[in-house]
Amino acid sequence: MLVVNSWFRVSMACTAIVLVPLGAWADGPSWPGPAFPDWRSPGQVKQACDAGLRQAGAALRQLEEVAPTAGWIAAYDAFYATTEDAHGPVEFIRHVHPDAKVRDAAEACELRWQDFLTRVGQNERLYRAARAVEPADDIDREALRQTIEAFEDSGVGLAPARRTRARELANRISALGQQFDKNIRDSATRVPFTPAELVGVPAAVWKGARRDAQGRVLLGLDYPSYYPVVEHAQSPAARERMWRAKMNEGGAANIRLLGEITRLRRDYARLFGSDSYADFMLRRRMARDTASAQRFLDDVQQAVREGEQRDLAALREAKARHLDQPLDKTTLERWDVLFYTERLRKERFTVDEESFRPYFPPQESLQFVMRIAETMFGVRYTPVPAKLWHPEAQAYAVSDATTGKPLAGLIVDLYPRDGKYGHAAVWSYRSGSTLAGRLPQAALVVNFDRKGLTIDELDTLLHEFGHALHANLSATRYALNAGTSTQQDFVEAPSQMLEDWIFDRPVLKLFTEVCPRCEPVPDELVEKARAAREFTKGSLTARQHLYAAYDLALHGPDAPEPMAQWRRMEGATSLGHVPGTMFPAAFSHVAGGYGAGYYGYLWSLVVAMDLRTAFAGKRLDATVGRRYRDTVLGQGGQRPPQQLVHDFLGRDTSPKAFYDYLAR
Ligand SMILES: [Zn+2]
Repeated sequence: MLVVNSWFRVSMACTAIVLVPLGAWADGPSWPGPAFPDWRSPGQVKQACDAGLRQAGAALRQLEEVAPTAGWIAAYDAFYATTEDAHGPVEFIRHVHPDAKVRDAAEACELRWQDFLTRVGQNERLYRAARAVEPADDIDREALRQTIEAFEDSGVGLAPARRTRARELANRISALGQQFDKNIRDSATRVPFTPAELVGVPAAVWKGARRDAQGRVLLGLDYPSYYPVVEHAQSPAARERMWRAKMNEGGAANIRLLGEITRLRRDYARLFGSDSYADFMLRRRMARDTASAQRFLDDVQQAVREGEQRDLAALREAKARHLDQPLDKTTLERWDVLFYTERLRKERFTVDEESFRPYFPPQESLQFVMRIAETMFGVRYTPVPAKLWHPEAQAYAVSDATTGKPLAGLIVDLYPRDGKYGHAAVWSYRSGSTLAGRLPQAALVVNFDRKGLTIDELDTLLHEFGHALHANLSATRYALNAGTSTQQDFVEAPSQMLEDWIFDRPVLKLFTEVCPRCEPVPDELVEKARAAREFTKGSLTARQHLYAAYDLALHGPDAPEPMAQWRRMEGATSLGHVPGTMFPAAFSHVAGGYGAGYYGYLWSLVVAMDLRTAFAGKRLDATVGRRYRDTVLGQGGQRPPQQLVHDFLGRDTSPKAFYDYLAR
């Protein structure tokens, strides 16, 4: 769900030490630009890290000598790109490399980069130069504005002691955030189940799984294991145990880390005269201030309250019917929600998420989302050979379908494995620049069942692919505001826009094109899935609202203790808080780059639904798609989001489509 850019996105030349050019296939497109580094040992990471930092230091000293004339922005951007080339792959590889020692080396390197980047952000000579440059046009003006703000938010304008404190805080927050992710990624929790407890769970999920000495099946918390158990296990005890294990992922250690992170962020914001980290961050975003974001969340809550109650009542009735007990003796527990949602889907809409897997094999699903992009945006994806961190990771060259011009590179890592990042995300580790002729590269990471995807998972793939498109089809002048480096409460919009594409018949027909041997998914099944999704939108939106409101509260002036705040807020919802669970311990978004930004998912969704109106009835229309590629995706962050939306829709953005959707 996530998109990751390096913070203070400054980044080093593709050195011969770390980067080896890929061989091209005879006639087709080749991988554009440097190959992803093929690190096999911690020593190689360390060596690349030393070299990268050395070169970044040298490039910084050169940049300090550049006069603040019209060419300064391009020089600054070249430094940014240089730094990103060394830093981007290291920042990314720590999430996916199969060797824990390599991941550890990358994490150690990342902390050194963080310190380097914070120091760049506090560099007075660069700051003074940025302020002295006369912008030639709007794009330069926007690039300068963002650059100057990034310097100011790094503490360049603070008195020396405060500036040092800001750097210490930034470095400490990075280290704590790393530890938070590591505690989740490396936990290797296995939940034991007797085969009898797994009645209802598709056999393919657990038949081949490891067993303990008593013959119990051991299942991890990865999505392909977790969801089938909580959605399908007939045994309430099994569901509860799995759910509780997931709700304790990260553990008490992560609650302490989250508390420290949010307190330090508050302290950081106070150095700049802001009351809270939320205020400090939101002043640079579409929302502008915490009060506006809060008002928006209140409106959403109001709009979904009734729908949520209706959903929960239906689930509780389903439970009473299933257990053949009176409704007033029936309590809906949190670990019941997914199970009875599935039952109701089957009952009301006769749709079973599992039944989609045979229609959507993983590799063909990837080709399918690529075909959607090819049809809408006039591009082509070509697999290219690459030596990557794992044999299953794949590389694609993206080119313009009409001209054949190379556009970008995309790496995809589809399946779960131990030590791999467990959610779905895109890393924009290399930003494009038309001025420098530099082509973007991104990596898409998901964790799918090898047997195939459910329609919800296909939706997730399309969402992440939307981020990859945003990164890959960027055509900005400067790397520093390429693709996904737009305002954070807008960045989800292009991905969310695509989410409902899969319920469209003409779109789904493309599956047959990429997989002639695949049986086409029946229209009727898709129609039912769409109806089933409508049915849970109240409770799902209410949950998103809770996450967003919690994140803002955590980053408010008090920086409250995370569990106390969570117990209060989750406790105030209809299903309440379950003692002994600690959902925030695995809430990586708030510990990481989405801190005080989770509301952006709902905020962006408003824009996404508005963007969809231009594609109404013609989701694959290449003319609208091309206009969208040029006015929105291609523009990255070089114009404010409001303007991009206006350029595409021919009017200001409106929340009408969003509230109509919630009300219908
Ligand atoms: Zn996302």
